[in-house]
Amino acid sequence: MLQQTQVVTVIDYFQRFMDRFPNILALAEAEMDEVLALWSGLGYYARGRNLHRAAQQLRDEHAGQMPLEFEALLALPGIGRSTAGAILALSHNQPWPILDGNVKRVLARYFSISGWPGETKVAKRLWALSADCLPEQDVAIYTQGMMDLGATICSRSKPSCGQCPLALDCQARQSGQVASLPTPRKRKTIPERAAWLLLVRDEHGRWLLMRRPPTGIWGGLWSLPQIDADNENYWQRFEIEHSIKLIPDPEREPSLIHTFSHFRLHLQPLTARLESYAADVADSPDLRWMCIDEAQKMGLPAPIREILARPKIAALAANS
Ligand code: SF4
Repeated sequence: MLQQTQVVTVIDYFQRFMDRFPNILALAEAEMDEVLALWSGLGYYARGRNLHRAAQQLRDEHAGQMPLEFEALLALPGIGRSTAGAILALSHNQPWPILDGNVKRVLARYFSISGWPGETKVAKRLWALSADCLPEQDVAIYTQGMMDLGATICSRSKPSCGQCPLALDCQARQSGQVASLPTPRKRKTIPERAAWLLLVRDEHGRWLLMRRPPTGIWGGLWSLPQIDADNENYWQRFEIEHSIKLIPDPEREPSLIHTFSHFRLHLQPLTARLESYAADVADSPDLRWMCIDEAQKMGLPAPIREILARPKIAALAANS
């Protein structure tokens, strides 16, 4: 949960998650829908899917226990070199280096390493320094200390160098490069995309929800049927694909913009009324009619949750 996300954001999610899944077996036995529902709003959903798969792999291959070998940890979904190292260093004092965002920042500044840390040669250098700095004992304390130093004192903007235990020897501080290290990635303009979101309700006031494919954005989450805005015949295609007939001229609802790490998505919700539909339209594990209360308990992307919570949408459902 803490990958790419700050502690304050994570706390409530973590507590709800641990209440429901207090151990590996409980998580492994859960339905993916329930896991994603508890992850809903935290973003980067691949982490939730990977955690669930990792729990199942631990149940099936390691008798439900975390292995203590680096290679076995690395083989689990969602665990990379730094996470595997952190697990072993923090839980068993094993001397493995880590290189999360906070540690990268401290090392890049302390040793004055320029170049974007995502570049292979810069990352190699930082990994080597991280390994060289490992103490012979108290690896767990040292590792936690480095992570905390990066998260609190050596923060991205306005680091508190005056309170830093490394200040005397810090090369970035000596050379006045603190603000420019680590070197940021060269920003490309972020592409813009647009999509329609169809709010289709049946005569009972239930909305049609569709489970998204397991990979890609919002993978495995429930969402409103979404159609690319540049798809000319989107309406007809949607009707044919789902044996649905909609009354023409859907109503435009207030639009919203959602920013992903690699593009910005303009979403235009449209409320559409049904003319007719095949009785089995939602007899599928991936397409269902849901009342708002039921939908809000599922794993929904944050913008979809926001749309379904709008008073007008609730009123439309109530007046069906
Ligand atoms: S002296 Fe400043 S820049 Fe250097 S490690 Fe400490 S907080 Fe970071």
